[in-house]
Order: sequence, then structure tokens, then C-alpha cells
Amino acid sequence: MTTNVQCLIIGSGPAGYTAAIYASRANLHPVLIDGPLQGGQLTMTTIVENFPGFPDGSEPFQLLDDMRRQAVRFGTEMVSGIVTKVEFDTNAKGTAPAHRIWVDDKDEYVSQTVIIATGASAKWLGLPSEKEYMGKGVSACATCDGFFYRGKTVAVVGGGDTACEEASYLAGLCQKVYLIVRKPYLRATEIMQQRVLNNPKIEVLFEHNTLRLTGEGKVQGADLIYKKDTTEAEERHIAIDGFFLAIGHHPNTELFKDYLERDEEGYIRVAGDSPCTGVAGVFAAGDCADPHYRQAIVAAGSGCKAAMEADRFLQKFQH
Ligand code: NDP
Repeated sequence: MTTNVQCLIIGSGPAGYTAAIYASRANLHPVLIDGPLQGGQLTMTTIVENFPGFPDGSEPFQLLDDMRRQAVRFGTEMVSGIVTKVEFDTNAKGTAPAHRIWVDDKDEYVSQTVIIATGASAKWLGLPSEKEYMGKGVSACATCDGFFYRGKTVAVVGGGDTACEEASYLAGLCQKVYLIVRKPYLRATEIMQQRVLNNPKIEVLFEHNTLRLTGEGKVQGADLIYKKDTTEAEERHIAIDGFFLAIGHHPNTELFKDYLERDEEGYIRVAGDSPCTGVAGVFAAGDCADPHYRQAIVAAGSGCKAAMEADRFLQKFQH
């Protein structure tokens, strides 16, 4: 089955839904393919307290469902499925491009514009207990969830800029922060390292790896190993209330690698602060093109920009 559309949006986080709201209000009759995790990364947090307009916070599923309903109200067609292949039209000259997108390996869409809002995924250590305590003390976003650990003890894993930034941020809220680093040094930039090393609330545990998380129904501790795989290896237990992963993110952009320029981490390169990619009629919004901010409100704003650019782009062919 082939369906022709003006605007196809890939991804159902704040970027995708906001793009859908704007595209449908611009009469582009968008189709949104929601992808493997409906609602995106935000669904992994417990409560969203930094999205403006919700003074008492918002339950993430509710917030995303409201965005979704808002998009549907203006005419967005929601499709459940995963985009499995794309063929972007790089040869259109003087006519609207015909980008081809396959959903679940069977349904084909031919779209004049595509808004990619596939987000990024936090990297995980791969411990079974990480999954078990997800939302019960395990988090991959200090800015989102740090507030729940005011006055408590938490651990952050990682030795890069994200880990140092998150540890410093959490030290402003928590009683104590352990920074678990697998190497004997930090990889973060010098200034971030100094900020961490000079903070009396942060204890850096160099050459430590996490074996497992422990606790009754929620995280209450972590078993670590010092100098793993050496003769000096030694296990150690720390009591913590929260466990923050900061070992990097990977953008969900593999599908587009043959067509779009990406940076060394895989983030889609856009022109300046616009959502425009190097392919006419293809736009990128949200975390898939943003290695820096990774916030729902920023993603929503970039979704708006992408829809406005898609509308502007289509207007060129309406004569
Ligand atoms: P990085 O890839 O720079 O760092 C990841 C860290 O996690 C490393 O210390 C790495 O250890 C560690 N790690 C990876 N896998 C594991 C594992 N399985 N177990 C334990 N530790 C692990 O990611 P970041 O997210 O920190 O940064 C990404 C990019 O964004 C960087 O270029 C960074 O500079 C930039 N950034 C800039 C900021 C700023 O300027 N304010 C803020 C945040 C990010 P190892 O060193 O041993 O490989």
C-alpha cells in the first residue's frame, strides 16, 4: 500500500508532537509514525516539573498524551509502527521531492517533506538491576529527576562532561554524590573536572565499576568493584537513594546515514540553528540533532521550527 502525503513526521516525543500540531494547523495534513517508544525518552521519567505551564508538574504520559490529542484535534493522522527504511529524493529539481518511507517493512509513504524527530537513547550499563529499578531510583537525566533526591545520597556513573555536569548539579541538591568512574582519570574538560574535584559533596570513586543495584522495591544501594580484573580487585557496597547514568547518549539516526550528514556521534547536522538538513524537504528536530540541551522544551521548540520550515518549503510548489 502506498500513501502520498505532504508531510511525514517520524517520532512521537515532544519534537514530533509539536511538529504535528504546527504542521496540521498549517493544513499540511501530516502523518506521524510513532516509533518503538511512543512518547519517547520523556516517558522514562517520573514527573515533568520543568515544562512551563504546569506549576504542579505533569505526569509524563499525561503531558505526551495531551500533546498527541492536540495534534489529532487539528488533523494529524497517527500511525503506530516503526520506520524501517527510507529513500530520500535528492534529485528533485523545480518540483516537490518524493521521499519514500517504509513502515514495518510493508506500508510505503511518499512524502514531499519529512520531519525526523527520532530522539536519542541514553546508554545503559546493561545490568539486569538497571531495568528492575527503572523509575524507582534509576535515572538517565539529573535535570529531570534530581529534584526528587533533595537532601539524599546519589551516585552518578561516567567520567565525561555529562557525568561531571550532572554530579555538580546534583551536589547542589543532594547531601552527597558519588561519581563512579571506571578509569583512573576523568575524561571531562579540565574546568568540569576541577568543579567536581573541588566540590566537597562529591566523592569520586576512580577505577570502580557497578556490579548490581540493591534495595527493597527501590534503589537503596549499589555493589561496586574496585580494580576489576586485577589481583587487587575488591568489592564494596555504597548506600544510595538514586543512581544516575551519564555514560553518553546515542542519537537514533542510523536509518538516515546514507542520506544525511551526521557528526562523529551520529547527531544529524543541521544548517545553523535551523532544522534544515542537507536534503531538500527533510528536517530534523529534537534530540536527534541536538547533542547539547536534550530538554523536552527545547525539542518542542525545534519541532515547531521544523513544521514552519516544512510549510515554507511546500509553499514554493503551490503555483
Ligand atoms: P562521553 O562519551 O564523553 O563520556 C562517557 C563517559 O562514560 C566516559 O567517562 C566513559 O568512560 C564512561 N562510560 C562509557 N561506558 C561506560 C560503562 N559501560 N561503564 C562505565 N563508564 C562508562 O559522553 P558525555 O555524555 O559525557 O559527553 C558527550 C559529548 O557531549 C562530549 O563531547 C562532551 O564534551 C559533550 N558535553 C559537553 C558539555 C558541556 O560542554 N557543558 C556537557 C555535556 C556533554 P571512559 O572514559 O572510560 O571511556
